[in-house]
Amino acid sequence: MEDCIFCKIVKGVLPCTKIYEDEKVLAFSDINPAVDGHVLVIPKAHAFNIWDISQDDLAAVHKASKKIAAAIKKSIPASGVICMQLNGSDVGQVVMHYHLHLVPCAEGSKLSHLDVISGNGDTNKIKEIAGKIASAIS
Ligand code: 5GP
Ligand code: ZN
Repeated sequence: MEDCIFCKIVKGVLPCTKIYEDEKVLAFSDINPAVDGHVLVIPKAHAFNIWDISQDDLAAVHKASKKIAAAIKKSIPASGVICMQLNGSDVGQVVMHYHLHLVPCAEGSKLSHLDVISGNGDTNKIKEIAGKIASAIS
């Protein structure tokens, strides 16, 4: 889809800090992470939301998220991961391309789903943490 920022990231027109990729899925660091290690997992094919995405792409995103969550657990290290996915502007969806947020809770930090609000991104820190997660993917 032409005006979609995540489609532009898939096409390589816009940059991202890539963490994982397969035939159907791309995962990259959130540009304004709520906490260190905040990852977005998206289908490469444009879909707006849960009502629009194909069964295959939905399955592929969530299958990949299991792999990435395992890597987050190892590399952050995290004691919990919030998997959050918003559908529609009324619930706060801003980017209208289906995306699953993976938000790590570092050991002892007792992060709640209510704390998942994007912060201010530090590019060097994002790249450093993304590298750790990416290399922990097996
Ligand atoms: P939503 O509220 O739609 O679920 O969240 C959209 C998320 O996308 C936000 O956490 C925001 O920081 C992230 N985001 C928005 N634009 C970009 C971008 O250009 N690159 C990356 N990596 N993340 C983005
Ligand atoms: Zn898109």
